[in-house]
Amino acid sequence: MTLPARLVLLGHPVAHSLSPTIHNAALRAAAIPLEYTALDISPAQLPETMRMLRAEGAAGNVTIPHKRAVFEFCDRITDVARRVGAVNTFMMRDGALLGDNTDVAGFDMAARTLMRNAGTALPKRVALVGAGGAAAAVAAAVEEWNGSELVIWSRGPARAEALVQRFARTSVEGDLSRAVCDADLVVNATPLGMSDDSFPVPIAMLPSGCLVLDLVYKRGETEWVCAARAAGHPASDGLRMLIEQAARAFHVWLGVAPDRDAMWKAAT
Ligand code: NAP
Repeated sequence: MTLPARLVLLGHPVAHSLSPTIHNAALRAAAIPLEYTALDISPAQLPETMRMLRAEGAAGNVTIPHKRAVFEFCDRITDVARRVGAVNTFMMRDGALLGDNTDVAGFDMAARTLMRNAGTALPKRVALVGAGGAAAAVAAAVEEWNGSELVIWSRGPARAEALVQRFARTSVEGDLSRAVCDADLVVNATPLGMSDDSFPVPIAMLPSGCLVLDLVYKRGETEWVCAARAAGHPASDGLRMLIEQAARAFHVWLGVAPDRDAMWKAAT
């Protein structure tokens, strides 16, 4: 397999991202002579950047706010990226720019690990807070869980309604307490808690014993995850999803599985 010319993360902003840290740790562990770099690219700069990366034969990841825009630049799209409507991983294949989405598998693995550690089966009811790009990846994963229903709460109904049109067994609930009241799993897919200590759902509102999965990550876990766990909820933050989506991207770019322990060590 031919190595990509370079590996990049496209976002705006990108300084907060742990992706360079975990990918560079895995590249060093595998003795692959590449560096993964974050590029802070404004929406106006994206078309020229994509032209340049395509000509170079680069590969990479995409984060807020470019996942939909990069989808439009790709020549080919994997089924899962088409289902989500967003690209978080791209690469050149046979002269074509291929867009993929590894967030779905990353979320699925993070949720299943949380369930396994808690000794629970697939949830009957999942409450999802937020209706953006990450929420679409969650909806695509939950749609594959046999019988699970997804209830979405978001501060504005339009994006939640759009997800309901696209994904099976999904509904919108305008009242947060009603959205979470019967949930076996509550997922935060908003940025709440990333740059402050705010909670997407008050701890007192969580049903007894429900699992809590925060897609937000930061070193030392989010305040919401710590508070949920202290109240007796099996809980984890977005670090496992980050590492799992990164591991899948690494594999498709480079043809080898990364050393996940090296990634975890670098991120914690
Ligand atoms: P996005 O497309 O911008 O969507 C964000 C969602 O959060 C929207 O529904 C937005 O509502 C809502 N929101 C934003 N600020 C809010 C607030 N103050 N109160 C209530 N709702 C608010 O972003 P995204 O790509 O889905 O990412 C969401 C979060 O997931 C980010 O923190 C991101 O870092 C995290 N994430 C983690 C991973 C991982 O691997 N762990 C992967 C992907 C994303 P409006 O539509 O009304 O603005």
